[in-house]
Amino acid sequence: MKNFRIAALAALTLLFMSTIPVSAAVPAKISYKVSFPDAQAHYADIEMTVSGLQQPSLEVKMPVWAPGSYLVREFAKNIESLSATANNKAVTATKISKNTWKIATAGIGSVTVKYKVYAFELSVRTSFVDASHAFLSTTGIFLYPKGMINQPSTIKIIPYKDWDKVSTSLEKVGGDAFTLTAPNYDILFDSPIEIGTQDIFGFEVNGVKYDVAMYGGGNYDKARLSADMAKIVEAETGVFGENPNKHYTFIVHNRQRNGGGLEHLSSTVLGASRDQYGSERGYQGFLSLVAHEHFHLWNVKRLRPIALGPFDYDNENYTTNLWIAEGFTAYYQNLMLRHAGIVPEDGFLSAMVGDINTVENTPGTKVQPLAESSFDAWIKGYRPNENSVNTGISYYDKGAVIGMLLDLEIINSSAAKSSLDDVMKYMYNTYYKGKGRGYTDAEFKAGFEKFAGKKLDAFYADYINGLAAIDYNKYLGYAGYKLTDELAGTNEPTLGVNLGKAGSKITVMAVLRDGPAWKDGINVGDEIVAVDGTPVTDQAEIMKNKKIGDKINITVNRDGKAYILPVTLLRNPRQKNKIESLSAPTEKQLAVRKKWLKL
Ligand SMILES: [Zn+2]
Repeated sequence: MKNFRIAALAALTLLFMSTIPVSAAVPAKISYKVSFPDAQAHYADIEMTVSGLQQPSLEVKMPVWAPGSYLVREFAKNIESLSATANNKAVTATKISKNTWKIATAGIGSVTVKYKVYAFELSVRTSFVDASHAFLSTTGIFLYPKGMINQPSTIKIIPYKDWDKVSTSLEKVGGDAFTLTAPNYDILFDSPIEIGTQDIFGFEVNGVKYDVAMYGGGNYDKARLSADMAKIVEAETGVFGENPNKHYTFIVHNRQRNGGGLEHLSSTVLGASRDQYGSERGYQGFLSLVAHEHFHLWNVKRLRPIALGPFDYDNENYTTNLWIAEGFTAYYQNLMLRHAGIVPEDGFLSAMVGDINTVENTPGTKVQPLAESSFDAWIKGYRPNENSVNTGISYYDKGAVIGMLLDLEIINSSAAKSSLDDVMKYMYNTYYKGKGRGYTDAEFKAGFEKFAGKKLDAFYADYINGLAAIDYNKYLGYAGYKLTDELAGTNEPTLGVNLGKAGSKITVMAVLRDGPAWKDGINVGDEIVAVDGTPVTDQAEIMKNKKIGDKINITVNRDGKAYILPVTLLRNPRQKNKIESLSAPTEKQLAVRKKWLKL
């Protein structure tokens, strides 16, 4: 009631405005033709026509990054032979920045820009073309006219040889699968396109149609996959209370060895190994990836940090909230498989232990706060080096752990009435649907506090913005579980390095912070040749019959010279945790457990 007057006034203003004759320019019309005359050599040929122009020149641009993958990738590096014509006459196209061309349209209303894109980078966020298919990661394919990001466009695809299918979430024009339309560039840049002879099957959940487009073959069982993927879709829709899509497309690239995924608004691209569907471990791994990327259609694609949309396609888009956008998605990928009945209690708990072990065994967990890990994704997370293990923590792994702690906190403090699901749904309804914008740090914190019924200042100071050791047993205890480290009482010595082996060469890949190698000067890249004068050709020989406190001489080959380095062995701080039930959990603990795991 309170806002009625404002709403009525807004409606009146709209009515009034619409009666004024508009003298503004008619929007330009943008169309693309994409062909593949040299698919075998990995090229896509693009012809972009912009008509209805009323300006002396036109700037065309290419995004420098693909949303969801927080690294400036400079897609314009793959563009070559760009030329422009207006009324069939060549006009000048001048490159004015790394990703911008200025076309001298000379006042002519219709301009065509032709260019080639080299597409041979195998990943879910880059384009790839060969004689068997084209995968168009649209941010690296389509130039857009500067200032026209909200304009619609049409795309005509001319397939190569026997290619007969197009898989994308873009709408078809007139029922023609090879003619697509995008209402604006945010949608176009969020809609990858797979063209080829892919194997397509589908299923439907609550009226939403799902297509699965399999490239590359594989030992998948369509009926089993459809049934399990539908269960995941149903469980995830349950968290948010609605599925905003009418249609959703899974594009799956099956290769000899492949993995990873990238989320989009109404589709996702997944990498899989052709033979992984045959083993239970591989099959569950694929379903886990499905659950992760599909959960993103809400978490990050719609319910999003305020910095992540509208996107700045020219620069880094900084946010401290990837631990929610990615970490919680990593948590839910496990939780949803449990809630969907695909994974049993112990399977879920061991997946969480995996995340806990990764966090606890990464020295960087004591150096980089979680919020900072998110902010620096562009220069650290996506650009790891040999010292990353000592300087950073993944917002996926620690974010998943934090998701678990907050879920348990909310379930416990609400006497098993609410859970993290309620926070996610509330935030989705309030910010995405209600306010039509992303959330701030403080707003998500307030969302947690609303359902936890308490302030979380200390939690944030300790675990999000600080470096406090995580009190796992406090939170797991709410559900009648405890975490124990199987290596707690052991006295295993360590050198404190990660090693790699090629043939008989043992090379230091990482030197772990504050370990013996760190303190005594072993370097990344050193080849370990001998221990106490005895040559070693196998990693196990280095620590054979050694104990904590032993002083050993390690001979290394560094840049072609031999060095003998005295090293004092220390206790291995590595943890190997497990989560188990308390021997006599209380009624309350069992109620929390039941709510948490839907047992
Ligand atoms: Zn993700």
